[in-house]
Amino acid sequence: PHPKLGALIDALGDVPVVTEAATVRKRSRDFFWYSPILNAQLHGKSADVLVSPRTEAEVMRVAAACARFGVPITPRGAATGNYGQAVPLHGGVLLDLSGLTEVEWVRGGVVRCGPGLVMSELDAMLAPQGLEQRLHPSTKRRATVGGFVAGGSGGIGSITYGGLREPGNIRAARIVTVEPEPHAIELRGDAAQKVNRAYGTTGIITALEMPLAPAWPWVEMIVAFDTFAGAMAFGHAAALADGIVKKLIAPIAWPLPSFFAEVRPFCPEGRAVLIVMVAEASVESFKALLGGDGDITLERPASDAPGQTPLYEYTWNHTTLQMLKADRGVTYLQCLFPHDRVLESVGEMCAMFPEELLGHCEFIRFGGRVTASALPVIRFSTPERLDAIMALHEAHGVMIANPHVMTLEDGSRHKRADADQIGFKREVDPMGLLNPGKMRSFVPAPRA
Ligand code: FAD
Repeated sequence: PHPKLGALIDALGDVPVVTEAATVRKRSRDFFWYSPILNAQLHGKSADVLVSPRTEAEVMRVAAACARFGVPITPRGAATGNYGQAVPLHGGVLLDLSGLTEVEWVRGGVVRCGPGLVMSELDAMLAPQGLEQRLHPSTKRRATVGGFVAGGSGGIGSITYGGLREPGNIRAARIVTVEPEPHAIELRGDAAQKVNRAYGTTGIITALEMPLAPAWPWVEMIVAFDTFAGAMAFGHAAALADGIVKKLIAPIAWPLPSFFAEVRPFCPEGRAVLIVMVAEASVESFKALLGGDGDITLERPASDAPGQTPLYEYTWNHTTLQMLKADRGVTYLQCLFPHDRVLESVGEMCAMFPEELLGHCEFIRFGGRVTASALPVIRFSTPERLDAIMALHEAHGVMIANPHVMTLEDGSRHKRADADQIGFKREVDPMGLLNPGKMRSFVPAPRA
């Protein structure tokens, strides 16, 4: 443990702490184990103490104490990240933000809330006002709003609103700095991008203003197609149909649906499926567009409530999870296909790795254009082969965000604000105590 740990805990007063090693170790993990590479690198990494502030004032007390004693501090939401974002590399404090759940206000189609709210709980609170979050990851029923902003990128809803990086999807973020006398900074508009997907290295988020969307009654469906190419082609047509209100369009190649336990009966043997979420008012138009191209095998109201697995939990990185439950020999990639030849490009990659790549895509808007992102499942052999598969994708015009690395710089090549984020870090975390090791290019100033 850190030599100043005792003094640090004393300085925290009545802020709840847990020092019991087994609990702290367990809470120090996230879903990095989807990557065999990260699993080897991050195994056994743990904080020394779990600290759970309940208010911004308590966050400030923790930040002040960490700055005073030079103790690292790693923020944590629900720890559902896939790159070890919330895993402390150098011990210290694991700062559990899940207690900051206050909804300050909802007005003009915007919510201002604490970062610790679970995303499905926030939507349940917003529903009576006819509102919901614009986009959410497939981990919505566990993930926190703050963890999504600091560690995620997009998901269900991105077919209409794009990812978190699109201007306007985060209206403001309030952060606390890590200094002997911490202060709060309000980042509005584009400035809020300084915390988007920065893994908590650029300030502790204590409040967020998120623009909302109308909460339509959503219908979720499984549509079966003879081929993956057929599911892709119709999915693309549906994605481009601007009058059809939708949240999710995900074509999935056989045999992935054979791993979809609860909905397996609705996934016919040997066929590709398309998982969609369409507003009830658009179902008729959706069916008209489909014509006789595919067969709807399941159609039901969408819900996050316990008791029924929402169909979005078979898409995005949940597809990998469904297969991992049966086969630990697989991992995944993160791809963005070129919008002007999306169907050809997906077809090329499936043909190039017939034995190793199990294809599924999620249609999204990216920079104003409709394209497909994908988290294809990969049968893992060696790290070298994994690198070669990624390099071959890039050589054929597919953008890769490497999910097998733990630093910001190596992971997300299509992120905008890298330089901005590094400069900003000097202001808000001059000693480099926030999630150290995750922002590789940051070198703290020498201590006076
Ligand atoms: P955590 O994992 O706890 O934290 C994420 C990062 O944010 C960490 O670096 C942490 O230090 C930092 N952080 C957390 N809270 C704060 C705070 N208050 N202030 C500063 N920093 C903070 N991601 C997607 O984008 N889209 C998907 O569709 C998606 N699908 C997934 C499916 C599966 C099965 C799994 C395992 C993961 C998936 N993810 C996806 C990744 C992850 O679930 C999401 O990004 C999620 O939003 C993270 O939220 P969290 O609360 O679990 O954050």
